[in-house]
Amino acid sequence: MNIIFLGKPGAGKGTQAKKIADYYRIPHISTGEMFRTAYQEKTPLGVEAHDNYWGAGKLVPDDTTVKLVKERLAKDDCRNGFILDGFPRTVQQAEDLDKIVSIDHTLYIDAPDKICIKRIAGRRNCPTCHKDYNIHFNPPKNDMQCDVCAVALVQRKDDTETIVRQRLLVYEQQTAPLVRHYVKNIVRIVDNGKKTIDALFAEIITALGK
Ligand code: AMP
Repeated sequence: MNIIFLGKPGAGKGTQAKKIADYYRIPHISTGEMFRTAYQEKTPLGVEAHDNYWGAGKLVPDDTTVKLVKERLAKDDCRNGFILDGFPRTVQQAEDLDKIVSIDHTLYIDAPDKICIKRIAGRRNCPTCHKDYNIHFNPPKNDMQCDVCAVALVQRKDDTETIVRQRLLVYEQQTAPLVRHYVKNIVRIVDNGKKTIDALFAEIITALGK
């Protein structure tokens, strides 16, 4: 099953994509995580993408991002499907993806800006095992430490309020038009901020099928 996932920053794509990947036993491919890992490893691509683009809330250029995704999708573990989280983000990326693979489902979580901003402000991550937390909705057991590794949790560099507003603007201008591109096979899930992570997940699985 080949799935792509649309939704604003903070809509909960990462959290749901990990659960979907576990459920269907397909790889979870997050371009944002690929860029963050490349930056941590200080590869030339990682440093360039951070310094000029994602560190400022801007999109990394299409050709760089498409090349990265194309290489990832060519790996053996994608043969039975994948879930792409955060890609495509522009019409150009969607058109390029159409030339590489066919997509079975386009998931779209529709959530209001206010909820996305609150979620992002509370988002924390373990730098060692990469487990996600949210200080409002899914806090760690011990004050700001990972439940598994006991190391201090960190906030993403692009999760500060100014950069989040820039990312939401970029989403409206460049990514929201993709809803029209995928209109034929889109599954729209509305998140009014009152549903639990598990309730949303159940809704997604029902829509996608077993
Ligand atoms: P995310 O973790 O999906 O929120 O992505 C974090 C940042 O990585 C984004 O704000 C972009 O700067 C960059 N990024 C991730 N995916 C893409 C993409 N498909 N195209 C361009 N830039 C991307």
